[in-house]
Amino acid sequence: MNIPENKILIDIENIRKDFPILSTLVHGKPLVYLDNAATTQKPNAVLNMQNVYYKEQNANIHRGVHHLSETATFEYEKARGKIKNFINAADNKEIIFTAGTTAGINLVAHSFGKTFLKAGDEVIISAMEHHSNIVPWQMICEEQGAHLRIIPMNDEGELLLDEYKKLLTPKTKIVSVVYISNSLGTVNPVKQIVELAHRNGSKVLIDGAQAVAHTKVDVRELDCDFFVFSGHKIFGPTGVGVLYGKASLLEQMKPYQGGGDMILSVTFEKTTFNDLPYKFEAGTPNIAGVIGLGAAIDYINSIGLDAVEEYEQSLLEYGTGLLRAVKGLRLIGTAKAKAGILSFVLENAHPHDIGTILDRQGIAIRTGHHCTQPVMQRFGIPATARASISFYNTKAELDVLVSGIEKVKEIFG
Ligand code: PLP
Repeated sequence: MNIPENKILIDIENIRKDFPILSTLVHGKPLVYLDNAATTQKPNAVLNMQNVYYKEQNANIHRGVHHLSETATFEYEKARGKIKNFINAADNKEIIFTAGTTAGINLVAHSFGKTFLKAGDEVIISAMEHHSNIVPWQMICEEQGAHLRIIPMNDEGELLLDEYKKLLTPKTKIVSVVYISNSLGTVNPVKQIVELAHRNGSKVLIDGAQAVAHTKVDVRELDCDFFVFSGHKIFGPTGVGVLYGKASLLEQMKPYQGGGDMILSVTFEKTTFNDLPYKFEAGTPNIAGVIGLGAAIDYINSIGLDAVEEYEQSLLEYGTGLLRAVKGLRLIGTAKAKAGILSFVLENAHPHDIGTILDRQGIAIRTGHHCTQPVMQRFGIPATARASISFYNTKAELDVLVSGIEKVKEIFG
């Protein structure tokens, strides 16, 4: 899609009114919120839905026969259906509610690992993974005697697919890669990564934490075996997330945690496990969070991810142009396929100082290693300053960001 700017389908003024926090003053200045990769802001639709749940529907789910419990169960399961449609899964039983992306990856690493990984097997991840897609695999590899292999990247922050092809061997049981890098903005060719893995007989998990709020995801089109994301990065509440898995695989995998709701029957001698998806949802889940996430999905659908993507790409292009013109600024992550993440370093100023000075002007960005220390090592830097965009941001806010950076430069000479 190449829509001229005046035809862009985002009604920015009205959209911003949906997010009460965006009209906050910070240090007496209008908030410029550019920390969307860390977490997104919440629209009234989500805030109201959680309120309605606690005020009018609050009860535990699945186990009650009373009216409130049935209502809460109905709303909870309705949210599952919304998510199934949102990512185009084949069945509600392939949607497992978790606490977030990290929890989803840990679930797969543990359960898939305990079921399928043997000594000498290999797991492939990439050089740009979030720690949550590194450490769980390191842990299970150590337990099972398997080995971790890493797809390298170039200086632009693009994965080297030829190197990936060489890493794929009969020992490769699973490939686990990020869709959109949170520290570089790179959009990885995940469909191709899945195809190559499947040709090799390996399964694939996609970390979609930074993807779902910015581009349409169709898990059947991608043909990935697992897909994980967090509610709070898609305008929903914290403490809730989704693991999609192909039913045929999930059925073969051992439960991750034991407890209520994940069983069919329990005696002291033997327990039989519940069907999907409940086999992987032990204990009382984050009911309000799930229902709130359902409201967030309705909200994003009402705007349309095609329009969101188009608009965010125009912001990215604009912001990249502005930052490239700042003397002494180096962009980290310059892949051809990129989402709205602007990571940079500035001569003579540590990223933490940049973040602190920008904060005094009401501008919220993130500084540090962004839970991707190997990426920092690869680029030979301790940290970056990172502005990350959402569809409620504007070009005017990017202008404010750049004036803020100019102030940082004045201070640090
Ligand atoms: N993966 C990526 C690419 C991320 O950006 C993040 C969070 O920043 C995570 C995983 C972990 O997400 P959560 O902390 O919500 O579990």
